[in-house]
Amino acid sequence: SGALLVLGLAACGGEGAGASTDTASQKPADLTIGVAMPTQTSERWIADGKAVKEKLEAKGYKVDLQYANDDIPTQSQQVDQLITRGADVLVIAAIDGTALSSQLQAAADKKIPVIAYDRLIRGSQNVDFYVSFDNYKVGVAQAKALLRGLGLESADGAKTSKAGPINIELFAGSLDDNNTHYFFQGAMDTLKPYLDDGTLVVKSKQTKLEQVATLRWQQEAAQKRMENLLTSSYNDGSKVGGVLSPYDGISRGIITALQNAGYGKTAGPVPPITGQDAEIASVKLINDGVQSSTIFKDTRLLAEQAVNAAEAFLQKKTPEANDTKSYDNGVKVVPAYLLPIQTVFKPDIQKALVDSQYYTAAEVAAGQ
Ligand code: BGC
Repeated sequence: SGALLVLGLAACGGEGAGASTDTASQKPADLTIGVAMPTQTSERWIADGKAVKEKLEAKGYKVDLQYANDDIPTQSQQVDQLITRGADVLVIAAIDGTALSSQLQAAADKKIPVIAYDRLIRGSQNVDFYVSFDNYKVGVAQAKALLRGLGLESADGAKTSKAGPINIELFAGSLDDNNTHYFFQGAMDTLKPYLDDGTLVVKSKQTKLEQVATLRWQQEAAQKRMENLLTSSYNDGSKVGGVLSPYDGISRGIITALQNAGYGKTAGPVPPITGQDAEIASVKLINDGVQSSTIFKDTRLLAEQAVNAAEAFLQKKTPEANDTKSYDNGVKVVPAYLLPIQTVFKPDIQKALVDSQYYTAAEVAAGQ
């Protein structure tokens, strides 16, 4: 039987063969899914990695999960290693959406299907599928949440009678993340009428994406920029009335800067600040009335779609897409499965996050 086993391994290429073998005839236990995640500094990616791994392992597959500390060369090297170690499918949440082309070519040469996870990989023919949320809609929802937080729109999106001008500031994510452009576009399209008629005023005049972007989505960088804005544009006694923030970590950096300048105490209330990801630290701040809102994207559902797509590829089937036109990566339109999002204000925490068992009530209330 030893000889047979060796023969069997030789016939299917053995360890490290990747997907050039007929994966459809192999058992899950003989197949490996390589998963490349960007960073462990943000909770959501830890949750994503964990959910993808658990769901694949529950189906009997082997999983090779890597985190890259938000460092582009590290991620490139990890993807190379996933390929040489014999991944049969790759699931990649890219740090820089354009930096992996040579790795993806190596995958294509070995016929390893590539699934872009949450963030589209750009400039490559070798991206086979995309699982994400509707990123433009995330931006729209963030702007709507800001308008609601400011009292300019009600929960159902209807305009109120409140008048401006209200000073706001804008923050965006990392320019190398394809999602950043969708979030910002969705938000700016939604805020435009209010900016055009003077209801909202960006006091710093920093309205271009390049001016408001935050490298690697870093909380500290956002805090620093908010501090600079306070010094440069609000030293005349005027107040920040609201902030568009694309991600909870950035929101907390902005909140810290504002609190250090007396907001929430002597300088009046902390103004409405949006967010994204429903990170527990921000959910607690929303519960405490400090952060205004966040956008909840259920990473468990995203992981499930990634697993479905991976499994379809392994079985030599075409994964089910629900969008085949929105995501052009510069070389081709990548078929996608997009999931819905949920806006969360304080009254929504129970239903959206606790009843759905994303968090326990104790986690939300801890430290109060
Ligand atoms: C994700 C967001 C996340 C951000 C920072 C984006 O690509 O879509 O959910 O907040 O990266 O990690």
